[in-house]
Amino acid sequence: MSWKKDCASALRSVEELEEKIQLSAAERDYFHIKQDTFRCAVPLYYLSLIEDSENDPIRLQAIPRIEEFTVKPFECTDPLGEASYKVTDRLIHRYRDRALFLATDTCAMYCRHCFRRNFTGQHEGPAGDTEVEAAVNYVSSHPEITEIIFSGGDPLMLDTKVLEGYLARFKAVRSGLVLRVGTRMPVVMPSRIDAALVSMLSEYKPLFIMTQFNHPRECTAESMKAVSALIDAGIPVLNQAVLLKNINDNADTLEILFHCLVRNRIKPYYLFQGDLAPGTSHLRAPLGEGLRLMKELRGRVSGLALPVYAVDLPCGGGKVPLTEQYITGKTEKGWELTDASGRTFLYPEV
Ligand code: SF4
Repeated sequence: MSWKKDCASALRSVEELEEKIQLSAAERDYFHIKQDTFRCAVPLYYLSLIEDSENDPIRLQAIPRIEEFTVKPFECTDPLGEASYKVTDRLIHRYRDRALFLATDTCAMYCRHCFRRNFTGQHEGPAGDTEVEAAVNYVSSHPEITEIIFSGGDPLMLDTKVLEGYLARFKAVRSGLVLRVGTRMPVVMPSRIDAALVSMLSEYKPLFIMTQFNHPRECTAESMKAVSALIDAGIPVLNQAVLLKNINDNADTLEILFHCLVRNRIKPYYLFQGDLAPGTSHLRAPLGEGLRLMKELRGRVSGLALPVYAVDLPCGGGKVPLTEQYITGKTEKGWELTDASGRTFLYPEV
């Protein structure tokens, strides 16, 4: 279980980070502000991918900066409006045919752009027996639910046996349930994808792994080996990248990333516009820039390599693809977007 040691050795404090890497003033200052902060954990593996510069795309995803204390007026703690779709303590039922289960709040690395920071890393811990039972009962009484998305936090932070217990309890409701596991472990701690985990997951097909590679430098020999182990066991792996300012917001980087993923049998599924989570504006690329990049990429990469560019509409409007059908206008305040039922939402241009 080397991954447990890898979790234990992740760097969490300014002192631990400074032993391994020279911090910039903006990074060091983050730790000196006495306010509630979003937890920090940087696995040594992910740290090793950082090159020198302060603006390194790996570093920006891992190491907090003072800019996280700049909260824009339109940012909110629950940017997807998930609270209003919570049907039990750990189950969110927003779309008719699928529900999202918050398996645990912990992660191997706390990504600085995380949109679910109101739950992630908040010491909630793994779902307890009662919470699992309430979620399973709800799914049982809602036959329209055909998919369960295991999320959090990162469900692969759970012991393999504990995770298996959760999967089995949901699967017992209806054997045809499709399971998805959202995880960044292949990206930030590939050692987690060990033989025992792969073998267990392969018993719960149809099961899909949804991961989040955001930059080509994350596609290392180790991470690709981890993904291969899953795919070789018959578990499809899809990628949900996030468009991030100064990290992957240029066509060359995205083209290399998408080609690299496809070459390694990972389907680029979504490219998400950044959600309006507090303190993330320094990492959020403007929506107009995303549209321009997608137009450029359409002429450069195959349909197989091109993900759908999408946004979660602010205040719980749900996920929509950023295509003409859903973009109704642009004012100086931002982009006017519509959902499938015709309700309109404003996404600020920042
Ligand atoms: S792994 Fe996912 S849930 Fe965890 S911090 Fe990163 S983006 Fe957030």
